Amino acid sequence: MKKVLIVEDEESMRLGLGDNLKFDGYNVDFAEDGEKGLNKIRENKYNLILLDIMLPKISGFEVCKTIRKEGVKTPVIMLTAKGEEIDKVLGLEIGADDYITKPFSLRELLARINAVLRRVENDSEEQIKIGKLEVDFNSYTATKNGNNVSLSSKEFDILHYLWNKKNKNVSRDELLSNIWGNDVYTTSRTIDNFILKLRQKIEDNPNDPKKIITIHGIGYKLLT
Ligand code: CA
Repeated sequence: MKKVLIVEDEESMRLGLGDNLKFDGYNVDFAEDGEKGLNKIRENKYNLILLDIMLPKISGFEVCKTIRKEGVKTPVIMLTAKGEEIDKVLGLEIGADDYITKPFSLRELLARINAVLRRVENDSEEQIKIGKLEVDFNSYTATKNGNNVSLSSKEFDILHYLWNKKNKNVSRDELLSNIWGNDVYTTSRTIDNFILKLRQKIEDNPNDPKKIITIHGIGYKLLT
């Protein structure tokens, strides 16, 4: 089931959209201001974010800019009001995928959502194979020899990041800032522990890794 986050301060709008999306088969989560939205995006994995622009605490523009800077690629559709500066929404400056101007019909919104999701699915590689592990980043599932393998959302994130940089060195600092953002309590030791757990799920022999290898003094490299 596709997971959508609705960041919108207007309660009737938020709940109305939520009900309709649930009815359409989406799993829906909510945030009523920019700060909560940002935290939810950092802690969860969504397939799509509907992001209002005028929000308490942190504006939708800022939220979108921030998550893009942190490497979040989840598609974003901005909910704009007439007269808002929409020209820069889709550009590099903000990094949204589309926008829709209020008031809009539900049909119009669902069409935009489908279009954006289709576009994203077509140009990103979401089903991959590492060793014997088959990973589906759309549904957040993994299997090995036909059996389900359970991965935490952070493990998925790390794997996804390494996959996008496959066959290149990735430093611990890079992983820290891209996966954990500004969480000051995470150390490189945390990353090493996650890598150990991932190796147990991926490698034939976790003590002699052939897929996620250690680059001494730097970090890791995913070999394909
Ligand atoms: Ca608003």
